[in-house]
Amino acid sequence: MIKFVNVSKAYPNGAVALENVNLEIEKGEFVTVVGPSGAGKTTLNKLIIAEEEPTEGTVLFENQDIDAFNSGQVTRLRRRIGMVFQDFRLLSNKTAYENIAFAMEASGKSDEEIVSDVPHVLQLVDLQDRMFHFPGQLSGGEKQRLAIARAIINQPEVLIADEPTGNLDGKNTMEVIEILKKINDLGTTVILTTHDQQMIKAVGQRIISMERGRVVGDEQKAQVKL
Ligand code: ADP
Repeated sequence: MIKFVNVSKAYPNGAVALENVNLEIEKGEFVTVVGPSGAGKTTLNKLIIAEEEPTEGTVLFENQDIDAFNSGQVTRLRRRIGMVFQDFRLLSNKTAYENIAFAMEASGKSDEEIVSDVPHVLQLVDLQDRMFHFPGQLSGGEKQRLAIARAIINQPEVLIADEPTGNLDGKNTMEVIEILKKINDLGTTVILTTHDQQMIKAVGQRIISMERGRVVGDEQKAQVKL
């Protein structure tokens, strides 16, 4: 589904973020990319959503070269990929319900769809009791679960979570991971990045290790039922 072929990325200031990265992510996988700060994890994600382009090599989405996409194709690509960030990026003057409704309106969904889908997705992330709370009234873990709900409301095929637990304590981290696993079980490909080696214990499936722009490990973990 997503393929990196000999991908290198240097920023204009000379910083080398990726060096000859080769990897393939299949539909339905749960991939955790782990590595210290500066390893190139965010750059990897930015290349997938065409926010940056490779200096060398090719990034493919369903066998198509993302770098060759025109702006319409980039828009369509981004509709197929949900994003979650460490700092949540919620609209502070909108309730949980409105944050999600807003994302649906932006993609042209009808009022009927909004009224029927928003409560469902809030239930999926266990926030049905927080529907009319503003982000400022939610805990860090609740904010991130709301951000995940918003990211999946338009049913993307891929969910990229860039350090989603960076601001969370252990308990909230586990809750977020459990929700990502649930979303993956429902068929969405999940790409999770983290600098936290401890997290490897909690996540299942495939672990890609990065250091200084290079992939230094790529292994399938046995599925552990928690
Ligand atoms: P990570 O997400 O693993 O912390 P990044 O992809 O953010 O890694 O960064 C990889 C390297 O690229 C770092 O050395 C970083 O300083 C550099 N870098 C990232 N973004 C930019 C940018 N916009 N301009 C210049 N250098 C950048």
